[in-house]
Amino acid sequence: MAVIGWIGLGNMGGPMTANLVKAGHEVRGFDLSPQALAAAAANGLTRASSIADAVSGAEVVFTMLPKGEHAIAVYLGEGGVLASVSPGTLLIDSSTIDVESAQRLHDAAAEAGFRFVDAPVSGGISGAQAGTLTFMIGGEPDAVSAASTFIESMSANIIPTGGATTGQAAKICNNLMLFINLAGAAEGAVLADRLGLDKQVFWDIASVSSGDSWALRTWYPIAGVIASSAANTAFAPTFTTELANKDIGLAIAAARATNTPLEIGEHVQQLFQRVLDAEQGRKDCSIIVKLVDGTLAP
Ligand code: NAD
Repeated sequence: MAVIGWIGLGNMGGPMTANLVKAGHEVRGFDLSPQALAAAAANGLTRASSIADAVSGAEVVFTMLPKGEHAIAVYLGEGGVLASVSPGTLLIDSSTIDVESAQRLHDAAAEAGFRFVDAPVSGGISGAQAGTLTFMIGGEPDAVSAASTFIESMSANIIPTGGATTGQAAKICNNLMLFINLAGAAEGAVLADRLGLDKQVFWDIASVSSGDSWALRTWYPIAGVIASSAANTAFAPTFTTELANKDIGLAIAAARATNTPLEIGEHVQQLFQRVLDAEQGRKDCSIIVKLVDGTLAP
């Protein structure tokens, strides 16, 4: 079993590290948030007092951070990962970040003599808890294969995507589809209610019909239908609107760079922007249902 350094113990990093601990690894974790650190420690993680404390002597280091700027700061900043890891450590970034930042990390790691992969995940907090995430991994084949060994206990699917940054490219396109599906589920749910359908009956139909999607089955934004819905807990975040807006923004930026029209994606970003304008960005992204039913507080 390995000593694993881990930076970023939020909604995803917390439960992901719990599965590594369960698999017998020693996980030394650090997060700027004392609450996140305490929650992970309650599941067997060893608390570190800094990035350096978490990563020095580790065989492998994972990062699970909000955005590209956080990943850049954590890897390249003073006292950061590259300045603190032991020679030979394998570096795995599972955050969802822009391709340019991911390329910068690949280049900096290679220059410093480390193997690095971009390995974003899909499956949400429920997949993180259950250890059934899909990992999409970009990088040199030997680094991808070495990373897969450590990823096993957190995942149901490990899919090599090709060279550097292709994991992020796959993730950005996947999440574009996810958020479009979420917006569709929100509109269908509210319209079904207004047409007099029982909420459970309609979900039972859609989930085995052509309206089905991962968003419908996992994030259905109506309270009292499925256990994993954030609507049951007043939209306490499993995936914040801020991060959803970041992800769809990554897709739109990539689309502009490749001359690809994303008319629906751009519209969904406007929905997230309206949630941010209403100062609800820390709430779960499925709160966009309130734009459909008209209950979003200004
Ligand atoms: P989160 O905001 O809950 O957690 C991020 C954590 O990083 C926070 O606890 C924060 O304190 C910590 N952090 C930020 N800067 C730091 C630093 N310099 N040093 C140490 N810790 C630092 O976010 P999350 O939902 O766990 O998502 C993490 C990443 O995974 C994001 O890129 C997100 O887009 C992606 N993702 C999220 C989900 C989901 O359902 N939540 C699913 C798949 C992928």
